[in-house]
Amino acid sequence: LKIYHKLKELITKAGVDVAVETYIKTTGCNGLCEKGPIVKITPDDIAYFKVKESDVEEIFEKTILQGEVINRLLYLDSVTGKRFKSHKENDFYKRQMKIALRNIGEIDPADIFDYIERGGYESLKKALFTMTPESIIEEVVKSGLRGRGGAGFPTGRKWKQCAGYNNYPKYVLCNGDEGDPGAFMDRSIMEGDPHSIIEGMAICAYALGSNTGFAYIRDEYALAVKNMSNAINKAKEAKFLGENILGSGFNFDIQIVRGGGAFVCGESTALMSSIEGKVGEPRAKYIRSVEKGLWGQPTVLNNVETWANIPVIIEKGGEWYSGIGAPKSTGTKVFSLVGKIRNTGLVEVPMGIALRELIFDIGGGITAGRKFKAVQTGGPSGGCIPESLLDLNVDFDSLTKAGSMMGSGGMIVMDERTCMVDVARYYLNFLAEESCGKCLPCREGIKRMLEILNSICAGKGLAGDIELLQEICATVSEASLCALGKSAPNPVVTTIHYFEDEYLAHIRDKR
Ligand code: SF4
Repeated sequence: LKIYHKLKELITKAGVDVAVETYIKTTGCNGLCEKGPIVKITPDDIAYFKVKESDVEEIFEKTILQGEVINRLLYLDSVTGKRFKSHKENDFYKRQMKIALRNIGEIDPADIFDYIERGGYESLKKALFTMTPESIIEEVVKSGLRGRGGAGFPTGRKWKQCAGYNNYPKYVLCNGDEGDPGAFMDRSIMEGDPHSIIEGMAICAYALGSNTGFAYIRDEYALAVKNMSNAINKAKEAKFLGENILGSGFNFDIQIVRGGGAFVCGESTALMSSIEGKVGEPRAKYIRSVEKGLWGQPTVLNNVETWANIPVIIEKGGEWYSGIGAPKSTGTKVFSLVGKIRNTGLVEVPMGIALRELIFDIGGGITAGRKFKAVQTGGPSGGCIPESLLDLNVDFDSLTKAGSMMGSGGMIVMDERTCMVDVARYYLNFLAEESCGKCLPCREGIKRMLEILNSICAGKGLAGDIELLQEICATVSEASLCALGKSAPNPVVTTIHYFEDEYLAHIRDKR
């Protein structure tokens, strides 16, 4: 913000005849978080990276007033040493396809008119005035969109099932309780483009006949809470939410609920309990929440990224969307690329892209010229994928087949120095802390696995530990009540599967 204020001051001093806000605005994160703050100058299409407050005067004098490019502030490709005038020319941005992130880095999230100027709320109007609830749902079914929160359930099918129940009220929920270590996809959308989520939820509400929505947002995400609240208020003032939207007779309101601070509250039934004011614990899923969800009423819950896709599907059609990505994993997916990777940041790519392209072409490869060892996909309950699978396509089914999962899109890249037993221990430690303790297999099983991993890492591993770990993994994944427990063994299973030699070396060499 210091850069913004300084630039604003200089422009004001220079004396412009329209409001200074016309010339300068703040936006959400452009994706390359690690190379921020970024200053973009339009329409010249110049982007400066890692800008400091001390650079602002020079930017104003040289670039804004005289159109001169300051070479040292341009994006520097760390592999080729090349600099790019426009950020869109480098591989990090060039290879991406932005649907859910379409507006982030382009609009001021606090200004509803910025969103409207880029076609915002046109899809809601299209849905309200030209489509029936059935045709909206049909479009989402046709798109093949699968939930981006982790489970990958077909979104259209979920809506269709919920629409089939005739008891009211029905609820539309947004899961913004992103808790995976290293994941910040949803945070970025809530902070940088809140109206796309609101519009997606409103379209669903109309299709289901719902008047009430809740956005459950991780409590630590203060800016996301602020920007979402502001956007909801602005949408109400503009009559895109609230009273009889533009005379259509459709009323919809969204309330924000701040998360309970537990990882397990991202699980659908625990999230609903938490909204109801109860302890955020999962319940058995023999009753589905589309039938009996929040307060026992029909409920549709989707995560932030899923909602942000909806306006584009309604605008361009389900068929258009299903033509992107892989056959059973359509569309694009947002990933947070972190760890030992050169271009740390947020990327959106068509589903089915090869891991190698994601990590080496977009991510720029491994830092300090080191060797790639593995990538953890799917958050703490995901799995570690080794170098031999770098050509794997990133889609729901391929990742599951490799023993990992899509999860919400966290990707942690590890280099040759990483001990994979230690990695498994790190995730088990996280999950042991976050298990709600309601069911025994998860509560005790994760703890026991962690004890064994601690002992192996301390050089006290015993012959038979690997087999014991595998046995506990099978029980925990079979008998746990919710997805947290069911998928908790994944880091252990995949590291034993792909890196067993490291377990054996710890046990054999007592290190
Ligand atoms: Fe709680 Fe774990 Fe059981 Fe889920 S599996 S209900 S997190 S104890």
